[in-house]
Amino acid sequence: MDFQLSDSQRALQETARKFAREAIRPKAPHYDETAEFPRDLMSTAYELGFMNQGIPAEYGGSGLSHLEQVLVCEELAWGCAGVTTSIFANDLANLPILLFGTEEQKQRLLKPFGERMRLSCFCLTEPSAGSDVANLGSTARRDGDHYILNGSKCFISNGGYADQFTVFATVDKGRRHKGITCFVVEGKPPGLTVGKHENKMGQRASNTVSLTFEDVRVPVANRIGEEGQGFPIAMETLDHSRPVTASFSLGIARAALEHSLEYSAQRQTFGKPIREHQGLQFMLADMAMNVQAARLLTWQSAWMLDNGQKNTLISSYAKCFAADMAMKVTTDAVQVYGGYGYMKDYPVEKLMRDAKLIQVYEGTSQVQRIVIAKELFK
Ligand SMILES: Cc1cc2nc3c(=O)[nH]c(=O)nc-3n(C[C@H](O)[C@H](O)[C@H](O)COP(=O)(O)OP(=O)(O)OC[C@H]3O[C@@H](n4cnc5c(N)ncnc54)[C@H](O)[C@@H]3O)c2cc1C
Repeated sequence: MDFQLSDSQRALQETARKFAREAIRPKAPHYDETAEFPRDLMSTAYELGFMNQGIPAEYGGSGLSHLEQVLVCEELAWGCAGVTTSIFANDLANLPILLFGTEEQKQRLLKPFGERMRLSCFCLTEPSAGSDVANLGSTARRDGDHYILNGSKCFISNGGYADQFTVFATVDKGRRHKGITCFVVEGKPPGLTVGKHENKMGQRASNTVSLTFEDVRVPVANRIGEEGQGFPIAMETLDHSRPVTASFSLGIARAALEHSLEYSAQRQTFGKPIREHQGLQFMLADMAMNVQAARLLTWQSAWMLDNGQKNTLISSYAKCFAADMAMKVTTDAVQVYGGYGYMKDYPVEKLMRDAKLIQVYEGTSQVQRIVIAKELFK
């Protein structure tokens, strides 16, 4: 095994690190406080090729490998995980087209993302179907050369600003997961209503809304895959996105570790810097050890995709371990800071709030364990 990054991977990582250090991190407290959409940062990310990372160059994207995507996203999330969620939402939403679209659909639905900054969103979750996604109730009824979509989605990242929507709906609810079908809705057609921006605990720079579809007409040409293929499309998409979601945890946790190392060298108790107390050293050592363990799982899960291997099990290990790790490491960082850690004037409480979301979205930590158990039982 070769853990050495290539020169071009290190250069890419350095560009992402510089962008995170010089542009994202200085503005992160503002976006956290106001919950405004970070359009300026996203425009720069677009110019740098950090949006549409996984879309191959022939379809107008950056064509980064999966390993390169996790390298970039760890750096961006070190700057601000909410901003990174906004940047990566396009890649998540466009994965079904990339993985299952026809050549004509890729040309028509992906290429415009390379021509100017456009946003898209992944619309799977519903008020009554989050973890139990096979239970989704949005319907798609065939009407000539169109489908008619009805239903509602919730917690959709970038939904308030999206130019394109990747939507999962069922053609026959009685068939449970075998009725789910994937569609791409372009623009803001009549009948599509965007709900209010959710007031969130963390990752407040990401836009999260509900969407309502009332008799929204979608051309049959915008159905991705066959009728009833939507569930495997969604699952395969999540296999591909989990390494990147895991890398968000790495960025958040690494930031928390660095702050903790710095603060613990300055803060004195009982006549010496707190990091000279063994109890605190053990905590710092555990934080660092777990960040690195999560990084290795994350890299492995991305490497498997780059080498054409199915990564369901390892990517679930990575996403679950990294999310739980980031929650623990950021909580410990608040502990290292003592009372100051609890204050908004210091950087670590935001990291703790941001980390919590990774245990929830794109499959909760419980759902990851269900996937892991299913894989183990095979
Ligand atoms: C900020 C934010 C952004 C999001 N962005 C998107 C997006 O862009 N697109 C999208 O489609 N969705 C998005 N989501 C939705 C997210 O993926 C869901 O919230 C998540 O899958 C959990 O679903 P739920 O909220 O309905 O919780 P539920 O499914 O109701 O789960 C509640 C609790 O029960 C546990 N649980 C459920 N079933 C089981 C079981 N069988 N065994 C053990 N425990 C179980 C869960 O782990 C959880 O702890 C987002 C969510 C948030 C909060």
